[in-house]
Amino acid sequence: MEKVLTVCPYCGSGCKLNLLVEQGKVVGAEAADGVTNQGTLCLKGYYGWDFLNDTRLLTPRLKQPMIRRQRGGPFENVDWDEAIQFVSTRLAEIKQQHGAEAIMVTGSSRGPGNETNYVMQKFVRAALGSNNIDCCARVCHGPSVAGLQVTLGNGAMSNSIGDIENSDCLLIFGYNAADSHPIVARRILKAKQNGAKIIVCDPRYIETARLADLWLPLNNGSNMALVNSFANVLIEEGLYQHQYVAQHTEGFTEYRQTVSRYTPEYVAAITGLTPAQIREAMQIYAGAKNATILWGMGVTQWGQGVDVVKGLSGLALLTGNLGRPAVGVGPVRGQNNVQGACDMGALPNTFPGYQSVTDSAARSKFAQAWGVKKLSGKIGCAITEVPHRVMEGKLKAYYIMGEDPLQTEPDLSLMRQAFEKLELVVVQDIFMTKTAAMADVILPATSWGEHEGVYTSADRGFQRFAKAVEPDGNVLPDWQIISRISTAMGYPMHYRNTQEIWDELRGLCPLYAGVTYEKMAGLGYVQWPCPDEAHPGTPYLYKDNIFSRPGGKGLLFACEWRPPQEQTDAQYPLVLCTVREVGHYSCRSMTGNCSALQTLADEPGYVQINDTDAAALGIKDNQLVWISSRRGKVISRAQVSGRTNRGAVYMTYQWWIGACNELTLDHLDPIAKTPEYKHCAVKLEAIDDQ
Ligand code: SF4
Repeated sequence: MEKVLTVCPYCGSGCKLNLLVEQGKVVGAEAADGVTNQGTLCLKGYYGWDFLNDTRLLTPRLKQPMIRRQRGGPFENVDWDEAIQFVSTRLAEIKQQHGAEAIMVTGSSRGPGNETNYVMQKFVRAALGSNNIDCCARVCHGPSVAGLQVTLGNGAMSNSIGDIENSDCLLIFGYNAADSHPIVARRILKAKQNGAKIIVCDPRYIETARLADLWLPLNNGSNMALVNSFANVLIEEGLYQHQYVAQHTEGFTEYRQTVSRYTPEYVAAITGLTPAQIREAMQIYAGAKNATILWGMGVTQWGQGVDVVKGLSGLALLTGNLGRPAVGVGPVRGQNNVQGACDMGALPNTFPGYQSVTDSAARSKFAQAWGVKKLSGKIGCAITEVPHRVMEGKLKAYYIMGEDPLQTEPDLSLMRQAFEKLELVVVQDIFMTKTAAMADVILPATSWGEHEGVYTSADRGFQRFAKAVEPDGNVLPDWQIISRISTAMGYPMHYRNTQEIWDELRGLCPLYAGVTYEKMAGLGYVQWPCPDEAHPGTPYLYKDNIFSRPGGKGLLFACEWRPPQEQTDAQYPLVLCTVREVGHYSCRSMTGNCSALQTLADEPGYVQINDTDAAALGIKDNQLVWISSRRGKVISRAQVSGRTNRGAVYMTYQWWIGACNELTLDHLDPIAKTPEYKHCAVKLEAIDDQ
């Protein structure tokens, strides 16, 4: 049996594992001693490889290029030459007729890796001529990237996953580590065992709340009010670091003025918390020698996500909890390579390495390197803007790589209408997802386990992942497919391997310039910034409290709380919030095809409801229920307990049949364009299943 050292393809924890290969097939996985996981894995790491064997539990692997010559007609198998010719010709026609802006493309935060995202954004910018590329960061931690770039200068975790356990206090806000990143949850547990104080802000009594010293069950939709009140307490009760604020921050006067109104007494009615709870939280946080803030999508998936991220970074600035080990701000990125897709410029506003498309010097640099006369300086389309741009007639073609927007975007009925109106849908994927089923062209790609490259984990750590088995079927690595389309469209790309791509991109990105394949070999882990080959990488950002902003100071920012967009009423009296399920991942196309994970949770479509609310509606535990919103109606199974708050229900988004995104609304954060997945109004009705 051969062991192939690689990186888990699911969450951003970046766990190293060995795939066990026998006669060309993956038959198991075991933990390796990676920097973040130290010889442990969660169940997805141990059992999440099975989809490689085409189990067909949920959907078959894509193994042959296919074209649908008529909408609604059958897929027809074609060879690669015909598929490439078809896609390149149609894209060229649409560009000719409607302009480059009429084509939208996605990167992928999953299996393909950093090199592929680099090639894809280069194709969009240099071959198509726009910045219309985005990735699923838009629907998860887009606000973290946008917010932290403004206040601190880097849109990433300032600290390291391995350092969480060394902190004296963890302020965990809207982040359910046990379900999202089990290996990070272990670090939180270790911190607790080491004596750290744990504060959890979450409406649900999540696993971390069980071990918390203080649990703040705030009302759904009150994040900004609570963060402002935290700042109010720190300032008005003299808990902040005066000297640090004077030396290393700017904007204090305006900031203080904004938060002055948000006394714990004032926000009690908004947050549902007592003034004593809010004060105690800040006494613990400010009193710790080294404190760290961790957050997840409970902070970002709101119409005011960017503001809350800026507000959380303000708490770290007020207390001087940045720029040294065991402190910092930690947006814990969701998918295995969502940090990497952003790092590589699969975003509508930045080239690789977070170099802005609006910066003429950056445009000239990339144009020269890529051999084109000029590059667009116009910020491109966000994934979440797609349905509106299609309905307005501005977008005609959508080339989707490794994403399933017809499962994961909000208000799916609107998204389906948009897809029907598109002139061309190209899907490059490994499974027949809901989106692939509506495509005009299917481009079947190799999967994680069948190709190699580099991922970036949630704490900016670059790691190489490896090919373990030969793919079955007529499939190609993603970067080769894109290169062939680009070449057919008159912009030749002829890379020989991923290392050649990597060396090109690191040569263009000062943040990653010193991260060589050799340095990342084996268990190697290199965190950016890494400016030259002698540099070991950067476990924590902002050393000596020099922030990556003009002038080097951190920005204190606060703004008024805005209530969620859609309010409950007599017809739709409950709040729906979307959440994760530990055994499955994202749109479930991979984990749903793993037999062990399917056995553990073959119906990950529950709706969690408070026991008192359930009793009032005549709903019993495990009973089938209808859930309706102003946009749709789905069926699910009730999970009744006292662990959720009254007035709110919680659904995972992995379930295909009762997809919760039939119900959600596409109200977007005005800056990050991230949807308010965490709040819409619904009603529940029991189904008599006797
Ligand atoms: Fe994979 Fe994340 Fe689990 Fe680690 S914690 S094994 S990276 S899913």
